[in-house]
Amino acid sequence: MIHSSLSQLGAALRAKKISSVELTQTYLDRIAQLNPTLNAFITVNPEMSLAQARAADARLAAGSAAALTGIPIAQKDIFCAKGWLTTCGSKMLHNFVSPYDAHVISQFNNAGAINLGKTNMDEFAMGSSNETSHYGAVKNPWDTARVPGGSSGGTAAAVAARLCAAATGTDTGGSIRQPAALCGISGLKPTYGVCSRYGMIAFASSLDQAGPMGRSAEDLALMMNVMAGFDERDSTSLQREKEDYTRDLNKPLTGLRIGLPKEFFAEGMGSDVAKAVEAALAEYKKLGAVIVDISLPNSKLSVPVYYVLAPAEASSNLSRFDGVRYGYRAPEYSDLADMYEKSRAQGFGAEVKRRIMIGTYVLSHGYYDAYYLQAQKIRRLIAQDFTEAFTQCDVIMGPTSPSTAFKLGEKGDDPVQMYLSDIYTIAVNLAGLPGMSIPCGFGANDMPVGLQIIGNYFDEARMLNVAHQFQQATDWHSRAPKI
Ligand code: GLN
Repeated sequence: MIHSSLSQLGAALRAKKISSVELTQTYLDRIAQLNPTLNAFITVNPEMSLAQARAADARLAAGSAAALTGIPIAQKDIFCAKGWLTTCGSKMLHNFVSPYDAHVISQFNNAGAINLGKTNMDEFAMGSSNETSHYGAVKNPWDTARVPGGSSGGTAAAVAARLCAAATGTDTGGSIRQPAALCGISGLKPTYGVCSRYGMIAFASSLDQAGPMGRSAEDLALMMNVMAGFDERDSTSLQREKEDYTRDLNKPLTGLRIGLPKEFFAEGMGSDVAKAVEAALAEYKKLGAVIVDISLPNSKLSVPVYYVLAPAEASSNLSRFDGVRYGYRAPEYSDLADMYEKSRAQGFGAEVKRRIMIGTYVLSHGYYDAYYLQAQKIRRLIAQDFTEAFTQCDVIMGPTSPSTAFKLGEKGDDPVQMYLSDIYTIAVNLAGLPGMSIPCGFGANDMPVGLQIIGNYFDEARMLNVAHQFQQATDWHSRAPKI
């Protein structure tokens, strides 16, 4: 059962071969057995999950089940879920039980999916290795001495180790795609505005986007059918007609134009990653695709631009954590200012403080024009590069990450090295485009390699088609770690 796809699980539930309570209990038992090693979950609440499972079983019995009714889905701990501890990986929110549901959570609840628990993540989604979590690092199930990637590292490890059927992530600069790549699973960051950010704890609001992480493109499509859609409570949510993201899965790829940005295939990419990506491209040619050389000349500026804009937005978003309204408050202080200072000094970890300081600096008088405004202009140029590229190709492909999963602690002292993990993913967020990662082989130390697929705005259904056809012809996505 734990290796079944979402549609197989849905069929088994509807045919009464298994009940949702049994399925949920199977995953809860696996979590109890493996989470002490992997640390993929911050919170599990069997009582709440099983109550949902009983309700799902009633719905299944009544014949009113939807595609995901009764299926256990884990939620990144960035999503507020009513009655659930919601920490965002931070001491700052160590005692925050959300009084309401994020839009994405209520969509899953309405679909009858089971909330299996809240997954570990880098603190406030800032990180590429899941080592900044207040709740400790997550271990990569392929090799527990290595990182799972970040910031959605708990989700990626949980999906890879079959601790849940699928799970959610969020991606501000690569946090769905990079951990998906490092854990050998599939992940999709939709076009900005497709999934509501309501109730998703904000990091950098102009970049943050929720998306599905699962074992196959087909599973991601079913998740997207639940997650996507207009929500008036998010002012950047887009009013578009409801889509069926599975509609194009089986289309042939004949004539598909794949753009290869020369900047992605230059120095920096590990030779093991290059080998796996090239083999994947050869497979795509067999499936009828043609390769087009393209250029994204400004993409080399995406990391520095991101590390001006994302901290600027974060410094503003995180000002709400002041020890007054909710979250951590220092136990001892002398006056109001001292309470703010101590609460924030004790509640935030080092990486979050670093971002708040950078953000405050680039927004301050005298530096705003030199850094923030300049970065905004380059962001526009980066987006224009993609618009130009998509006149020559249908999708863009390349590596998701320059290397496979690195060792825990390996990059801890060097933030710039850590930031470079997202060198291929960040431009996509700056442009607001959809991007995904699918497993395409194994590299150094037998660790998984991810292939990145970037689409034009709102082209998720085509990207899922492109990924699904590859997964019909190969079996990288169905390999599981031996844990
Ligand atoms: N790794 C990047 C960062 O640290 C991206 C994180 C994300 O997408 N949330 O900011």
